[in-house]
Parts: sequence; C-alpha cells; structure tokens
Amino acid sequence: MAAQETVEHKYVYDFAEGNKDLKDLLGGKGANLAEMTNLGLPVPPGFTITTEACKAYLTTGREPDGLAAQIEAHLESLEREMGRKLGDPQDPLLVSVRSGAKFSMPGMMETVLNVGLNDRSVVGLSAQAGGNDRFAWDSYRRLIQMFGKTVCEVPGEEFEHALDDAKRAKGTQNDLDLDADDLRGLVDAYKKIFAKHTGREFPQEPREQLDLAIRAVFESWNAERAVVYRRQERIPADLGTAVNVVAMVFGNLGADSGTGVAFTRDPGSGAQGIYGDYLANAQGEDVVAGIRNTVPLQELEQIDKKSYDELLDYMARLEEHYKDLCDIEFTIERGKLWMLQTRVGKRTAAAAFVIAGQLVDEGLIDLDEALHRVNGAQLAQLMFPRFRLDHEFQPVAKGIGASPGAASGKVVFTSARAVELAAEGESVILVRRETNPDDLNGMIAAKGILTSRGGKTSHAAVVARGMGKTCVSGADELDVNVPAKKFIVAGQTVTEGDIVSIDGTTGKVYLGEVPVMPSEVVQYFEGSLDPEHIDNPLVRAVHRIMTHADEKRRLRVRTNADTGADAARARRFGAEGIGLCRTEHMFLGDRRELVERLILASTDEEREAALAALLPLQREDFIDIFREMDGLPVTVRLIDPPLHEFLPPLEQLAVNVAVAQERGEDVAKEEALLAAVRRMHEENPMLGLRGVRLGLVIPGLFAMQVRAIAEAAVEVTRSGGSACPEIMVPLVGAVQELETVRAEAEKIIAEVVGDSGVEVLIGTMIEVPRAALTAGQIAEAAQFFSFGTNDLTQMGWGFSRDDVEGAFFWRYLELGIFGISPFESIDREGVGRLVRIAAEEGRAARPGLKLGVCGEHGGDPDSVHFFHEVGLDYVSCSPFRVPVARLEAGRAAITTTGSDSR
Ligand code: ADP
Ligand code: MG
Ligand code: MG
Repeated sequence: MAAQETVEHKYVYDFAEGNKDLKDLLGGKGANLAEMTNLGLPVPPGFTITTEACKAYLTTGREPDGLAAQIEAHLESLEREMGRKLGDPQDPLLVSVRSGAKFSMPGMMETVLNVGLNDRSVVGLSAQAGGNDRFAWDSYRRLIQMFGKTVCEVPGEEFEHALDDAKRAKGTQNDLDLDADDLRGLVDAYKKIFAKHTGREFPQEPREQLDLAIRAVFESWNAERAVVYRRQERIPADLGTAVNVVAMVFGNLGADSGTGVAFTRDPGSGAQGIYGDYLANAQGEDVVAGIRNTVPLQELEQIDKKSYDELLDYMARLEEHYKDLCDIEFTIERGKLWMLQTRVGKRTAAAAFVIAGQLVDEGLIDLDEALHRVNGAQLAQLMFPRFRLDHEFQPVAKGIGASPGAASGKVVFTSARAVELAAEGESVILVRRETNPDDLNGMIAAKGILTSRGGKTSHAAVVARGMGKTCVSGADELDVNVPAKKFIVAGQTVTEGDIVSIDGTTGKVYLGEVPVMPSEVVQYFEGSLDPEHIDNPLVRAVHRIMTHADEKRRLRVRTNADTGADAARARRFGAEGIGLCRTEHMFLGDRRELVERLILASTDEEREAALAALLPLQREDFIDIFREMDGLPVTVRLIDPPLHEFLPPLEQLAVNVAVAQERGEDVAKEEALLAAVRRMHEENPMLGLRGVRLGLVIPGLFAMQVRAIAEAAVEVTRSGGSACPEIMVPLVGAVQELETVRAEAEKIIAEVVGDSGVEVLIGTMIEVPRAALTAGQIAEAAQFFSFGTNDLTQMGWGFSRDDVEGAFFWRYLELGIFGISPFESIDREGVGRLVRIAAEEGRAARPGLKLGVCGEHGGDPDSVHFFHEVGLDYVSCSPFRVPVARLEAGRAAITTTGSDSR
C-alpha cells in the first residue's frame, strides 16, 4: 500500500492496457473492448475510466483527484492516434461516452454518441465526409437528443415529437427521407427544447460535453431503473460502472454504411448458425431501439460481402477465444467493418443447455465446465408447461419468439396497470409497440411481454430473456394504440382486460386462453422421452448434463411427498427417497369427523375409539407410499400443526350454532365444537400446542401414528417389498421431549416389527433454535436430524412467515438488510450458522449421524450449495424441484475456474 500511495492512482486505461479478466475494474464492455483490441480486431481506439473512479465520484460527489489530468492525457494520445482533435472546427474528432458495468445491464445506463460536435465542427464533419451535410446534421441532432435526455434529463418525448413533426411536415414516416435542411431545422428545434428544459444553451465546448457526459454515466449507476434491474437480477449495488470513451465510427454515412448486432449461435435455441440484425445507414442505438425494421444478418452478404466475410471470421475467432456464445455489436463505415462490443452473450435456458452440450462435442470445454455453465433456475424454466395446440386455436399473429415459455393473461398497455393488476393476483400480458427501460416494473409484474416492433435484440427481447420471462417481439400485424388501450389484429379489436396467449418459442399470438401441456424436458424426466433415441438437441443436452451432475454430486436428493402419487412422480424425477412425508393430510377430508371425535373425546374410551378408527386409514396411506418408494428411505413426520386447524373456524361455528338454534334443531354437537375451539384458541398458534407438544399432551396420538407406520412397513416387507421408514418428531427443542416420545415409540415398534426384519429409525427435526444449539445432547437420542429451515428461519429471525412477506419485506429488501427473502434462500450467516452448529455438534456426539434438510430451501439453488458446504447428506424438496436440486448438487460438487456465469 505505502509504495502505491506515492504513485498516482490509475483511473484511466487505454484499450491496449486492459484485458477480459479486468471486468471488476473496467466493466464488461471495457474489458472486452481491450481484449478485442489485443486480439488484433478492428476496434476504434479509446480508453476506459475505471469503476473505482465511479465509486469515488458517487461517494464524494466529485471527480477524484488526478482523474481530470489522466483523461486529458489519454484524450491527447487518442487525438494523436486519430490525427484529429476534439472540437476542431475543420476536422473534428468525435467520441462516444459509454457506460459499462461488470455485469451487463442492457439499456439500463447511459451512452452518448457524437460528443464533440457543435455549431462549428458540424461543418467540419460534413467536409470530412466529403460534403455529406445530411450525415453531419443527423449526427448533431442525435448528440443534442442523447445528451439532452441522458445528461440533462430533458424528457425524451419532446425530441421524439419534434422528430415526428419534421417527418409529418415532409409527408414521410421514415427518418431517412429527411434531408440536410430538415435536419438543420431539427437541430434548431432540439436546441430550443434543450434550452427550455435546462435554462441554458446546448454546451458548445467539447471538453465540457465530454466531462458532463462522463459524470452522467457515473450517475446513471444510481438511476431508478438501474436500481430496480440490479435488485431483480441480484447484482450488488456497490460495483459502480466504468466509462468508455471511444472514437466514433459512422454507420449513418449512407447506403454503404450501417450497424448491427450478431450472435455466434442462436441465443434462443442454441442452434449453430448466423444470427443477428442489420440496419443500413443507421447509428447503433437505432437497432436496439427497434425504430426501423432491421434485416436478418444473412442479408449483409448481398449488401457488403467483404465486411460480411470479415465479420464471420471475427465471430469464429471470438467463439474460439471465449469458448462460449458471444454477442457482438458492429458498425460498417463506408465498407470498413468496426467491432464495437462483444461479450459472452445472454441466452435462453434452452440455449444454455444446448450450447454447453455442443461446446463439449466441439472439444472446447469439458463436462464439468458444461455443468458449471447451466443452472437450476434455467432448468426450472425448461420445466414450465407448453401450449397444447389443436385446431381450435389459430394464431392471429406471428412475431419473433424472443424469450420462450407459454403465457396467457389479461392484456394491459402500461407498466403501471401491469403492476396494479398483478398485485391483485391477475396474470397480465404487457402489450406495447416497443418497451423501454421505464417499463421495467411492468415487465417484472407481467407474465409475458408482447411488442409489435423490434427484433431479437430489442429492449423487450433482451430484458425478457434476462428475466426468464416469456416474450414475443416484433409482431407487426398488431396495430397497437397505447393511449386508446387497444390493439387491432386480424380485423379484431383487443382491449385492456381481454385475454391473449403468447408463445415465446414460436412467436405466435393467440386470442383467448390456450390450455397447456408438459414441456419436453418434463416428458423426459417423466420417462416418456428416451434421450438416446430422439432427435431433440435440448433433451439430449439436459440428459447428458444431468447424468454428469448425478455422477459428481455428493448430496442425495429426496422429495417432500405426502401421497403415493407424489412419491411416484418424484421418483421418476430422480428422488432417492422421501425427506418429508407430512401426515396432516391424513386427518383431512372425510377423516375430519374422526378428528373431531378425537378432540371432543371426554373419556379415554372415546379417544381410543377415535384413534383406533384412524389407525387403519393411516396404515393404508403409508402402505401406498412405502410401495412407491420401495427400497428407499421414507421420513414420516408425526403430526405437526395445532389440532384446531382441523376444526371449522370460530366464526363459522358460531353462525352454525345460531342458525341451528333459530331452526330449533339439536345443537349439542355444534356447541361442543364451538366450546372446544374457544378452549383451544391460541394467540400465537405457530408457537403454541403443536409438534412434539401434541404428542406429549394427547395420549395415544403419536402411538397410533407410530403403529400405523410400523404395521405398514411390516406389511410391505412381508409382501416382498422393502420399506425403510424413518420416524421424525417435529418441533423438538430439548432432548427430554425426544426421549419421552422415543421410549414409547420403541416399545410399539419392537412389538409390531418382531422378526420381520424391518428397521425403523427415530430422529428429529431441527427447527427450533434451541434444538440447534443443544444438538449435541439431542443427537444422543436421535438417529437422524432433518433441518426444518422454514421454522428455523421463522424462529431464528422472529418473523411470522404468514405476515412478514407482505407487510415489510419490501422495505428490508430496499434497505439491503437482505438481498432476497430468507424464506426463499437460506440466510447463511444467521440461520445457516444454526444449521452449521447443529451439524457439527450433532456429528461430534454421534459420528455418522444422518443429516438432511426438508424446508423449502432444499430446492433453492443457492441454498443447495450451502447445504453441500456444511456437509449434509441430503436435501429434500417438492417433486418438481428434484431435478433442479440434482443439478445444483452436482454444480456444488465441482470446482471450476469460477468464471462469472451471469
Ligand atoms: P449499450 O450498453 O446500451 O449497448 P453502448 O455503449 O454499447 O450501449 O452504445 C449504444 C450504441 O451505440 C451501440 O449500438 C453501439 O454499438 C453504438 N456505439 C457506441 N460507441 C460507438 C462508436 N464509438 N461509434 C459508433 N457507434 C457506437
Ligand atoms: Mg445504452
Ligand atoms: Mg452495447
């Protein structure tokens, strides 16, 4: 440190000084521009101002010492290299000022093009371009527009209206029809708008333009939409953005110029080939904004074969170099190709699997790396249902399948309305001509997004893919009228609240609600698709990667299942046992009546009779489950919820009694129930008479369940099967509770099991903080622990699960007290610490103690990694999460170079 302090801190890096591994410092865009520069690709020269400079600016509110001088020095060397000077009236250098954070945040932050133009240099620019006045004035009006909007917060619509007015005056819809004079007029109009909103003239001094633009990029890190996006994508809030200053190249110089984006493989399906969009005579942001309709990249071959071939060559080199799908931004200036950006591209879930499989085939990566590059969230997406299509449903339009999935919902036209209806529990489809960053909240709230303009790389498409949200873009048969809240398609008018269905894979749009069916990946897991014999690249890739995950993982994966049917499905999904079989449902339905008798029993005989009647019913339930899980462990939790949950609610009973009395009917039973409910009322039922406490208070209740389990196991085993029951006692906080239950249970088990060879384990849940902290004692009496992380979180934080998420979690998330609800993903430091202590102390007391988790965290990717780290034996989750847990358990077990897979 001391040595460094004497040297001036380096805030600015020339492209030649960086490389792709410096994303923390140079941002993704800057690091990759440097990498391409050093690979010898044609990148316009420039330099990057570091994220550290940004962070310093954001904490102190001013540029750090030395930054201005370093910018000056790098600008001078850029000017030397280009042989032009910023602001030179005869021969000006123009630059772009581009944001670029460590993680790509498409469209979230600011970029200003054509910095350096003013009333005098616009003339010089025209001369540079061989007297192309139109081009020069078009560039200038773009600068005022972008600068006004992003640096000075002038409302963007004002500029758009002025542009529309100019086109209308000209009688055209196409901005290419505006000539130099029209654009000069537009510059005047823009300057007036600028002055009106900012109270000052548009800055003519190029260095001032540059400094203000850099500052605006710094500040855009904290723009509201960027904050919302980061929260959604779980990107840390303190990274800051770098700023790239890049010499301008011009795609708007005429028909031999243009700009485009390209992908080295299809980011939708992963298929190999040439994917992208090209727009002639345009500047970069025109493509992404979906302002004019682009042509498929293949057509560039006809337009400019030399540039096209060169581009394909660079794309191949980039893929080879990054060993992954890359996306690229490029511009052609009068037949000369320039590379303006590349990065490892975002992709759909399906493409992630397919590409990982292909790269293994191509020998670019190994299977561990392939496993590292996919994740459980993507797999979960591939398990979403698909539309079931038959002749009844004809699409009314076909756009671009921009982000896959099948979504139906009510049409809304504004972000605000989407948020409103979603809050009421409605599924909504946000319909727009095109989306922009201000629509982000609506996009998060919507089930799907439908736009009438824009390609695979439009804002809607990129953001939806990032969020894993269904999106159809560029459905240009739709005539969308947002102010009137309607669209017209195929002669029909669809208004707000009407239902539409969109298919983000095929791009098809349907009116009404199309029914759904299981996805191919689910069919594969269900066993109805044979991966070796079908020609579906996705299923083959999933099969291959899952097989590898299963080979690598140390954690076993069980399921939470209460019925034979759930157990059977989970087993097909790869479950290796049941980690949580709840017995509560066995007290519901037509068995309620027996439970009522149990609760109302006033004598031992009455109670025993009720339990005796329940016994055979429970036994049948267990037989069913043990058969389905033949040979695999089944953890059965003794009854857990407070018993009054099985009785009708107080108000309803009170009404029943009153009505019956009115009619002169016999109300004895209702009155008894009502009295019981009153007696059993608890202020805090989650902390009341439940779990093991029930077993200790109600004689015979646990004994009946234990007997039913043991008898079922014996019967299944006698008939040739193999049942491996594990009896789990809930809500234990002290070893004495467990010892009492266990003593009674062991007697019954010994009596029932006899010489049948059945072995029944007895263990406990660890879900009360005290149990975690006294795990050493509890382990003396327990043959296994299963962490109930829902209750452990509830009691660890003191959060009432049913109340907090709606009441104040939004505020906690906003304040960054946690980045995600601790009920969704385990709180490693607090609740996770309890798990760690209990695991260590439990195993110290009883070596080889079996440890698992059965809370909902068992299916959460990040939590699975944590449970792997603390050395649990298994996780248990709902049947549909089983494949996700298998995959993540495999990912947790491999060590890789740790590239950022975001
Ligand atoms: P984003 O992160 O939103 O893609 P960029 O900084 O990449 O923003 O810039 C927006 C658009 O401007 C892109 O299409 C990009 O290719 C184009 N662009 C940026 N810098 C230059 C430049 N120096 N010359 C020409 N076009 C540029
Ligand atoms: Mg941008
Ligand atoms: Mg870009």
